[in-house]
Amino acid sequence: MSTAQVINPATEEVLRTVDLLDEAAVDDAVGRAEDAQRRWARLAPAERAGALRAFAAAVDAHVDELATLEVANSGHPIGQAEWEAGHVRDVLQFYSATPERLSGKQIPVAGGIDVTFNEPLGVVGVITPWNFPMPIAAWGFAPALAAGNAVLLKPAEWTPLTSIRIGELAAESGLDPDLFQVLPGKGAVVGERFVTHPGVRKVVFTGSTEVGTRVMAGAAAQVKRVTLELGGKSANIVFDDCDLERAAATAPYGVFDNAGQDCCARSRILVQRNVYDRFMELLEPAVKGVAVGDPAVRATEMGPLVSRPHWESVASYVPDDAPVAFRGSAPEGPGFWFPPTVLTPQPTDRTVTEEIFGPVVTVLPFDDEAAAVALANDTPYGLSGSIWTDNLSRAVRVSRAVEAGNLSVNSHSSVRYNTPFGGFKQSGLGRELGPDAPLSFTETKNVFFAVEDRAEEL
Ligand code: NAD
Repeated sequence: MSTAQVINPATEEVLRTVDLLDEAAVDDAVGRAEDAQRRWARLAPAERAGALRAFAAAVDAHVDELATLEVANSGHPIGQAEWEAGHVRDVLQFYSATPERLSGKQIPVAGGIDVTFNEPLGVVGVITPWNFPMPIAAWGFAPALAAGNAVLLKPAEWTPLTSIRIGELAAESGLDPDLFQVLPGKGAVVGERFVTHPGVRKVVFTGSTEVGTRVMAGAAAQVKRVTLELGGKSANIVFDDCDLERAAATAPYGVFDNAGQDCCARSRILVQRNVYDRFMELLEPAVKGVAVGDPAVRATEMGPLVSRPHWESVASYVPDDAPVAFRGSAPEGPGFWFPPTVLTPQPTDRTVTEEIFGPVVTVLPFDDEAAAVALANDTPYGLSGSIWTDNLSRAVRVSRAVEAGNLSVNSHSSVRYNTPFGGFKQSGLGRELGPDAPLSFTETKNVFFAVEDRAEEL
């Protein structure tokens, strides 16, 4: 069995050494999960609901511990990490209502009764990225368990610690340890085995479009179900009729949250040309005001990047001759620090077209509504975006025209557990969260019951 060192990105110190599972260990886990799933699906709906509520309560009792672990493993600011741990609890609570509400349909037909059942798939594999380890795991495991499935969770190599702890909390809360198993390992080993093992009936993959494409291609061999949540290059469109002060003051938080390591980052700011100069004047102090530093300190708004290799990748987008408009600050010394950076490149530059996944934003001008929509849609991605305007008709027109799954008007909000989340185009396939997510972990089974006709006797 191989091992990996988990590093604190704010200090570069080794936090822990984690065992990486091999293919045989995954096969063993799938076998045990298949048995546990059958036991789980046989329980009364209210018992499954109660078990999920107990799991949520266990997470709730350990929010501080989970948050502290995420600060150390991922460098997330403490306030953000607390929100993430609390979000896991909320997602579990929301879907704990599912087992007692997953009703099928009764469809009127001639000669009998027709009923649909939402049958669980069996064992579901959830593969998560390193940027939001806790929330993204919960978006997969909570509705999947609620719909009667077993779940195998593979966290990203750099950030496995909170997932491992959540797996322990599930077992401590009384959930069958074989029903929900956390399997740390390499993507090419554990992740690939989820794709190739016939016992894993669905793969929920969140990560890069590059790997997601491979997962989808591999899953095709078994017509395996997939949900894909992939990359993004979202636009923040600022029209001249908006509250420009608010648009500029909030723009940094629309892209630099989690140091820009956010699939929903509004990493392209598009500004109407007649207010462009004023917007840049207002943006500069807002960017310089972002508090970058020790993620354990409550006032910190932005921590370090997750790892040295990722720092190298982000830095490659800002060479010495980059068109830097202005930058914020970042600590010196150990840690993978990168200051918030604003670029004004040509529209064809790779900083405009590629997902950087760091605190780097590009600003481009546009002339009118049609040009803004064309620029926003000029990307293979379609995950998120913001529209700033005080003109209601324009807000409706533009939000219908932008090809993205999650938009916000006059804010940068995107994820709520009770509303659907996912991408257009190469940002993904399927939707997570919201009231319908459990259905994506079921098969619809239609059963017709023939009824002998004795109408004349009644
Ligand atoms: P990644 O694609 O490198 O890795 C994601 C996960 O896939 C990891 O657990 C990794 O071990 C695993 N993996 C790697 N190779 C695999 C293979 N061959 N088969 C199966 N699994 C494999 O992505 P990352 O660098 O961890 O995360 C960053 C990316 O995730 C960005 O592109 C970001 O936009 C995206 N993301 C998307 C969303 C969303 O909801 N749309 C959310 C967060 C992150």
